[in-house]
Amino acid sequence: MANFLVIGGGVAGLRAAIELAGSGEVLVITKGKVMESSTWRAQGGIAVALAEGDEPELHMKDTLKAGVGLCDESAVKILVEEGVPRVEELISWGANFDKENGKLSFTQEGAHKIRRIIHAMGDATGEEVHRTLMRRVQGIENIKFFEHTFLIDLLIEGEECSGALIMDQNGEEQIIFASAIILASGGAGQLYRDTTNPPVATGDGLAIAYRAGCELQDMEFIQFHPTTLYLPSAPCFLISESVRGEGGVLKNSKGEAFMSEYHEMGDLAPRDVVCRAIFNQMWRTKSSNVFLDMRHLKPDFLKRRFPNIYMTCKKYGQDITRDLIPVRPAAHFLMGGVKTDLNSETNIKRLFSCGEAASVGVHGANRLASNSLLEGLVFGKRAGVSSSKCLGELARPNRARPNKDASPKINFGEIKKSLQELMEEKAGIIRCGKSLKEALEKLEEWDKILEVPLSSQEEFELRNMVTVARLITASALRREESRGAHFRSDFPATDDKKWKRHIVTKRGG
Ligand SMILES: Cc1cc2nc3c(=O)[nH]c(=O)nc-3n(C[C@H](O)[C@H](O)[C@H](O)COP(=O)(O)OP(=O)(O)OC[C@H]3O[C@@H](n4cnc5c(N)ncnc54)[C@H](O)[C@@H]3O)c2cc1C
Repeated sequence: MANFLVIGGGVAGLRAAIELAGSGEVLVITKGKVMESSTWRAQGGIAVALAEGDEPELHMKDTLKAGVGLCDESAVKILVEEGVPRVEELISWGANFDKENGKLSFTQEGAHKIRRIIHAMGDATGEEVHRTLMRRVQGIENIKFFEHTFLIDLLIEGEECSGALIMDQNGEEQIIFASAIILASGGAGQLYRDTTNPPVATGDGLAIAYRAGCELQDMEFIQFHPTTLYLPSAPCFLISESVRGEGGVLKNSKGEAFMSEYHEMGDLAPRDVVCRAIFNQMWRTKSSNVFLDMRHLKPDFLKRRFPNIYMTCKKYGQDITRDLIPVRPAAHFLMGGVKTDLNSETNIKRLFSCGEAASVGVHGANRLASNSLLEGLVFGKRAGVSSSKCLGELARPNRARPNKDASPKINFGEIKKSLQELMEEKAGIIRCGKSLKEALEKLEEWDKILEVPLSSQEEFELRNMVTVARLITASALRREESRGAHFRSDFPATDDKKWKRHIVTKRGG
């Protein structure tokens, strides 16, 4: 029994929970352990206008430019202005960001005109942010955590959300009623074969919100990160953009630096430009990867500045101080999501959303690097403030629900693998009408196969993945132009006249 139910224990969910705790009892559920989140994995840092000579307006300018006409200016203004006190508050709660001569140290990432990214433990910013928020949460009696607790569906009564159907740690289905529900369930990188996202990022919250009647927007915009370690034996490990911010250079398999051919900002061009340049170079040189060259940087500096990247590459036989590091792009971040207003409210009463699951309009067609931890802090707090106003109504005792029959024999693992391959090939960095139609046909087939009683987490996750993949593919097919992270080889130009607008999707219309 709780007044408020928060789905997700990443930066957005934790920040919302902290805000809500003053108003009532908060239950936070996470489908795995609380550390299993994109937040924990974040490396590069947080973009915030705290450096000398920087201002929120300059941060806003870079964010709007990266978003290629689709950012909501008022949302971006809130992000960059409220971002400053949110980060200062985090520091006052004990977050230990890296310093130089006693002052915050700033780095640069793609499409930022200024060094404005603060970082922690070199390249483990997410860990520090998460640890700080968890320390804060653990000191608050009103907040309870249920790990390994899976959101299956939201309960909708009339036009309101009254609670959630969950699967508890023992695999039992339960109904939890709450006065307000905050969906902070993160992104959907697992829809793709190559992704930087953790296994929990299967897009559950997006599919669940869609089934509940929420509006979703900008689903066609998937950001791929240009540089993940590419070795047969290694996992898809992210090599932060700040490596290029500190002087790392992309080279093709012939050892040639190539980014200046593609963009005036060279290696620090926007992510979509770098990804397509890498693809082009891989195709031109018939290679399955390009390389990141850091050998000209001082070994001591590299080890100190990127300890996590140094150690992980070393583990797989690559020394960043001496070797060219094989890299290629991987699915990284979903710009779209559950449409919310500036107070994180969805179109369903008592249902709020924040963080990567939400689309408040700060990213437009392409997220500016390191803006998402900031988004989690700013709009997580806003979600907490607005949902606290729902207190007192609709609170009912929770109840158990008998589990449904076991599912029929379907090879869920096999479909999941095929879906990831399908999305990679047909709805990835470069798409076209033909590839998207083929993907959609296959996804509709799987959707039908999954119209059966489901009973395990793996089964629910797959159904959600198919739903979200359909939403991404259908929106990508509709948008007959190229903009930001969405590139159509059959419509390579940006068409402001027809397409400087959002695609909003809602079940049944
Ligand atoms: C490798 C990597 C590096 C990154 N680096 C940076 C960076 O340097 N700077 C930056 O700003 N951003 C970075 N990002 C992006 C950023 O980390 C994420 O966008 C952000 O942390 C998302 O936070 P969130 O709270 O919305 O979701 P998450 O942190 O992903 O948390 C999602 C939570 O939802 C829970 N959940 C999901 N589905 C269910 C369900 N069905 N039932 C119950 N619980 C559920 C999960 O268990 C988890 O607790 C990076 C991302 C990755 C993957």
